[in-house]
Amino acid sequence: GAMRSLPYFCRGEVVKGFGRGSKQLGIPTANFSEQVVESFPSDIPTGIYYGWACVGNGDVHKMVLSIGWNPFYKNIKKSVETHIIHTFKEDFYGEILSIVITGYIRPEKNFDSVDALISAIQEDIEEAKRQLDLPEHLKLKEDNFFHLPEGKIVNNH
Ligand code: ADP
Ligand code: MG
Repeated sequence: GAMRSLPYFCRGEVVKGFGRGSKQLGIPTANFSEQVVESFPSDIPTGIYYGWACVGNGDVHKMVLSIGWNPFYKNIKKSVETHIIHTFKEDFYGEILSIVITGYIRPEKNFDSVDALISAIQEDIEEAKRQLDLPEHLKLKEDNFFHLPEGKIVNNH
């Protein structure tokens, strides 16, 4: 099941999503390319996860992540989107996003309204913050994975 593959480390370029308006909802999600998504183990089910994320050589922040069905590909391919729990001054399309997924929150759901969706995501964010303060998750924040050797070009490993 899902837990066997966790913690899961992943690195890849941030690409344009399909403009579902996440940013307009105040919850921008950095999308990974199709190639990165296809490298994910198939035993990681769709749903909402949490973990740590870092843009380029930047600081490591808490994140929530959605693994879902990609409407752009008629829901036959997955999408992986990371909302970093941090306020960035600028967008970071084209940069390398490094993440470690450490835990699972819930399956994908449909919501009756945008308000219901937003409050569910806000609860996910609170849950992620609490879980990530626990020692077993907190320790991954310091993982060497986040210390990129300077000047080295890194692809998804
Ligand atoms: P898209 O459909 O292109 O993914 P979004 O509305 O989901 O558009 O916005 C995602 C973009 O917002 C990211 O690719 C990134 O450049 C930027 N961004 C700014 N702040 C954050 C954040 N805290 N977490 C994730 N992405 C962010
Ligand atoms: Mg997005």
